[in-house]
Amino acid sequence: MATKLHRNDPCHCGSGKKYKNCCLEKDQSKLSSKLGVIGLVLVVILGIWLLAANFSSGNAQNCPAGTTWSEAHMHCH
Ligand SMILES: [Zn+2]
Ligand SMILES: [Zn+2]
Repeated sequence: MATKLHRNDPCHCGSGKKYKNCCLEKDQSKLSSKLGVIGLVLVVILGIWLLAANFSSGNAQNCPAGTTWSEAHMHCH
């Protein structure tokens, strides 16, 4: 992270206004929307991971009766 701008420092956009009166709110909403995107990506990754877990456990259930799924061999024994 870059050095944090203080609320009473001149704004980084060069307007000459204090940061708190200028881009502070904009920057904060940008940050929170970025966090929202990260959260969304995590949810999608988790969903894909759960789907993949379901898929591989589905293989185990598809073994004929009396056989068990071998992770090492990737087929039923
Ligand atoms: Zn500004
Ligand atoms: Zn085998």
